[in-house]
Amino acid sequence: MIKGKVFLVGAGPGDPGLVTCRAKELLAAADVVVYDYLVHPELLSWCRPECEKIYVGKRPQWHSRPQEEIESLLVAQAQAGRTVVRLKGGDPFVFGRGGEEVRRLAADGIPFEIVPGVTAALAAGAFTGIPLTQRNTSSALVFLTGHEDPQTHALATDWRRYGALLDATLAIYMGMGHLRQILSELVEGGLPSATPAAVVQWASLGSQRSVTGTAATLADLADKLHLTSPAIILVGEVVRGHEKTNWYAQLPLFGRRVVVTRPREQAGELRRKLELLGAQVLELPLIDIKPAVDRDKLVEIFEEIGHYDWLVFTSVNGVRHFFDLFLKGFRDLRALGVMRIACVGSGTARLVRSMHLEVEVCPEGGTSDDLAEAMIATGGLDNTKVLVITGNLNRDVLVKKLEEERAIVDTFQVYENIRTDLRGNPEAEEFRQSGADAVLFASASSVQAFAAQSAALQPVGGGKRPLAGSIGPRTSAAMLKAGITVDFTAKASTLDALVGALVEKLNG
Ligand code: SAH
Repeated sequence: MIKGKVFLVGAGPGDPGLVTCRAKELLAAADVVVYDYLVHPELLSWCRPECEKIYVGKRPQWHSRPQEEIESLLVAQAQAGRTVVRLKGGDPFVFGRGGEEVRRLAADGIPFEIVPGVTAALAAGAFTGIPLTQRNTSSALVFLTGHEDPQTHALATDWRRYGALLDATLAIYMGMGHLRQILSELVEGGLPSATPAAVVQWASLGSQRSVTGTAATLADLADKLHLTSPAIILVGEVVRGHEKTNWYAQLPLFGRRVVVTRPREQAGELRRKLELLGAQVLELPLIDIKPAVDRDKLVEIFEEIGHYDWLVFTSVNGVRHFFDLFLKGFRDLRALGVMRIACVGSGTARLVRSMHLEVEVCPEGGTSDDLAEAMIATGGLDNTKVLVITGNLNRDVLVKKLEEERAIVDTFQVYENIRTDLRGNPEAEEFRQSGADAVLFASASSVQAFAAQSAALQPVGGGKRPLAGSIGPRTSAAMLKAGITVDFTAKASTLDALVGALVEKLNG
């Protein structure tokens, strides 16, 4: 029997930039990923499309899967010969039950490897500017769990004992349910009640919030700000004076909630730019892009492929799905022949060029007229054979225009846009509940998708009405048509300029 292998991998504290290179490499190779609550969605986008993703964490009103069941799932998947990534928040061996999982794998003779991750306490320190040790005052660091014994409901830790460790920093996981009791027991054990202490919720993410006080005041402060799990409680001299080094909270979009509306496959770049400025990003997956191809048509087109004069791509998705199909069929890029390539949109051209294929035509304006004219300018289209790669949304105008120039045009649909079901989507739910500071539109099609989904995106009561930002004239026109006021516009049609316009609008 072929045996698979299980990789127990730390997903880090939240921000996708904080996973290890090894984690990324393994995700890209996995046949199946078994993941928990608190794993950033970006990480899953590194998997191959055919990788199966199994969620085993908590859901609102749901219980997480029993541990025993998760372990059996890992064993069964590995026994089926698959490469399994078991992705766990933070580090798999810090309060993550990773120990139980590897013992089960070892007992069942399943090969495994363990990849460490940045544990939450380290992120809590780094993202608030609180060093976890300090010469002279803090020479030890203790990781503690605040969770209770499930049998007795009493706290599992003897806090008085740790209250007596005067030169240690305490980093407490899962302690928010018992914060007041934990602090008072620490003080009973000898911790001076004036010892500085902090709560850091959602460390490393745009939703991060924190508060600083003392062992005596922290519980009231955290209540007042409604800070709850997931959070790390840091106790010790190291917390003192951290306001001066609290760099993350000083980023220009920190504390801002921004909605990104691009289809899931493409949202990553814009999301990342916003996150690196401290924003919390809600990615509304309004449209799903799925491969969709007529098999007969595919055979017909591929038989002819060497005979086209022009290959025209109208979108990034077209490029991606076309080459997926093409390379499955031919394996070798040279089978394309010596056709010329035209693209609509600079992102589309960039993707083609990344495959070391020259793009001859990519007009400034993104319309069909512009494209047709630019192609004509290279020497006329009379009797040339043109292959236009499309999705299911109409590109008839382009085809008509090219045919008017007496080109012989074939269209080849390789993908389709489908409206995503937003009911039950956690990010859509958060948008309905709490609104956002801004919604960014980076294409006319995302405006249309947003408008089409507006019924599922109605705020409930007190949510903030978001400002709406546009990447450029075509997108703004689509916004006006959909009845969306354009509150700010990018100075150039790039994602950077769109983010720049947002920062300027929000920060004056
Ligand atoms: N294995 C994980 C811990 C799992 S226990 C690790 O190494 O980080 C879950 C607890 O981790 C939460 O209750 C919270 O205390 C902490 N936690 C996880 N992610 C966090 C984050 N981004 N910010 C603050 N605390 C976090």
